[in-house]
Formats: sequence, C-alpha cells, structure tokens
Amino acid sequence: MAKLYFRYAAMNAGKSTALLQAAHNYEERGMHVALFTAALDERGGPGVIGSRLGLHRSAATFGPGTVFSRQALPEALACVLVDEAQFLTPEQVHQLHRLANREKLPVICYGLRSDFQGRGFPGAIALLTLADDLEEMKTICACGRKASMNMRIDAQGRRVREGEQVLIGGNESYRAVCPSCFYAEEEEGPQKAPGLFG
Ligand SMILES: [Zn+2]
Repeated sequence: MAKLYFRYAAMNAGKSTALLQAAHNYEERGMHVALFTAALDERGGPGVIGSRLGLHRSAATFGPGTVFSRQALPEALACVLVDEAQFLTPEQVHQLHRLANREKLPVICYGLRSDFQGRGFPGAIALLTLADDLEEMKTICACGRKASMNMRIDAQGRRVREGEQVLIGGNESYRAVCPSCFYAEEEEGPQKAPGLFG
C-alpha cells in the first residue's frame, strides 16, 4: 500500500543525503523516481538537491503554485521524493496524500519540523497531521543530547531570536540544538553557543 511518508529532523541531520540514497535504491532496481525541491532553496543552485557529503542531483522545483497531480507527473514512476518539504503549502500536502492513497504512488517528504523560534512550518504541520508514516531522523546537539530544534545564527555568530520565518539570500546560518539548550540560551542571555564540532 502506497503511503505519504514524512522524514523530519533539525538542520544538518542528513535529510538530503537520505533522499538521494532512497532515489538510488529505486533506480538500482530499474525504477524511476521524481525529485522535487523548494524553488527558494538556493544552497545548491536552482533545482538541485545537494547533500553536505558532496552528492548532488538536479530536481524539479515546487513553489506555492505547483500542483501535485498524477497527470503532471511522468507515466512510469515508482516514487515521488520531496526535499525541503516544510515549504509545501497545506494544500500541496493534501495533494501528495491523495497521490499516495488514491493513485498508489509512494511519496517521501524530507524536511524541518520547526523554525528558529520553535514554531512549526505550515508544510510540516500539515505533514505531521496527514502523513501515513512519520519518522524522526536523529542528530546530536553540541551538549550530546538529541537535537530537535534549530537556532538561527547571524554572520557575527550571535543568536537571532526574531525575524521572518524564511530568509532568502541572508548571511545567517543554523545550528541544530536540543530543547534544553534552545531555552537555556534565552534564560542565560546572549552567549556564543559552541559549534557542533568544536
Ligand atoms: Zn543541547
């Protein structure tokens, strides 16, 4: 039975790497997949899914106006893989859920759950509500606990607490942290958090 899968994690947990591995597993068996990523993600150039391990694949892009329907996809398809799925609209999540359950086409979405203020992305909220299969991908906070939240860091290495949910073309970066560190920083005031690897 085809399902809508949501594989969610904090930043830098290897979501894109896992997506590219899943694509490879299908193709190794002679099956075709459709790859999508958000149009606003320019980390790897437009229409590219890039993993931090150096793997890159071209992908179709989706924006708020994209419609996910069986007619809009190639004929012989074994699976639809969506990166940066937190940027899907709730309506698109319904379309993908329908695609899986009515058209028998498995859809695997990879994305963030919450933003730098601990608020859910609309696409992630819809996926957590509708996905037939949920799995959290694990990554580690600098303190050693499981990281499930994201901190925004500006170009000077300071934590950013306010601003737009999505910044395009900024100099900010993100750090995956555990909930304890996410809130401790607030109580203890601004301080430079240690990097994941020193
Ligand atoms: Zn921590």
